[in-house]
Amino acid sequence: MPIEWGGMNRRRFLAEVGAAGAVLLAGQAQAGAESNISTIALLSDTHIAADPTLRRGDVNMSEHFKAVREDLLACPTKPATVLINGDCAFLDGQEGDYRTLIEHLEPIRKGGRSIAMNLGNHDDRASFTRAFEGFHFSDSPVADKHATVIDAGPVRWFLLDSLEKVNDTPGTLGEKQLTWLDASLAKHSDKPALVMAHHNPHVLPMIEKGEVVVPVAKNHLPVPGLTDADRLVDVLRSHKHVTAYFYGHTHQWNVFRWEGIYFVNLPCVAYPFTPVDPAGWVLCQSQAMHTDLELCSLDKTHPMHAQKVKLPHRGA
Ligand SMILES: [Zn+2]
Repeated sequence: MPIEWGGMNRRRFLAEVGAAGAVLLAGQAQAGAESNISTIALLSDTHIAADPTLRRGDVNMSEHFKAVREDLLACPTKPATVLINGDCAFLDGQEGDYRTLIEHLEPIRKGGRSIAMNLGNHDDRASFTRAFEGFHFSDSPVADKHATVIDAGPVRWFLLDSLEKVNDTPGTLGEKQLTWLDASLAKHSDKPALVMAHHNPHVLPMIEKGEVVVPVAKNHLPVPGLTDADRLVDVLRSHKHVTAYFYGHTHQWNVFRWEGIYFVNLPCVAYPFTPVDPAGWVLCQSQAMHTDLELCSLDKTHPMHAQKVKLPHRGA
């Protein structure tokens, strides 16, 4: 096992680290259901390989992850929860990739932070489950998908699973998961809802018709995303407390607004597909009336570093 744990540590670990959208109990003390503010570190597309020396182009993915980790651990606002939005593994979801990721997560869980992960198209549900055996998994309400709801102070997060086929670019939520999301949003309507899955929902016309809130560094990359994006958007806009949909996959940072919903494209931790896009993470602070985002670029000289955006909660 990459992590050595004694009885007490193991018990604490199980309480603190979750996979597949599990909530970490220790984190709830800081960002729990009753808190007035929740502070979360949003990471996406870590692409960790089993071999921590592996590079793709100029980027060593493990080194990028460690740099982000040090950044968030040193963050003065102390994010109590870390959400990793898919493509946790390098290419095709090898079990060894997740074991290396578990080692990289150790300092985060030692700091008492909760961790939850979504799956992307470069993950493998079966090997992910094997690698995290013994960790606390939340029970998914959707068969064959990893989905969950996290009650985080003034907001609720709905984590979805858009992995359809390992190492194939598009993703699908599926009718069962969308039906569950629709019912779950209806059931939990007393707090603003933030929804997150790995894949981009848009076809370019959605961006072109939408309001640009944070422009992309240069050009939107035409990355195939959700095959059932239209259905997702139908569900999101039918619930007036849905404030935002967060996604990764394109390895680009930008925000646009469409049909009253913010669409937040998280940057990658690993390697941007173009040199102008930043790598890094996003600090996310939610209060009753709004959610505030701040881009934390790995390159502190990047022109988008420290960019801030306020997402007023719908109906607030
Ligand atoms: Zn990716």
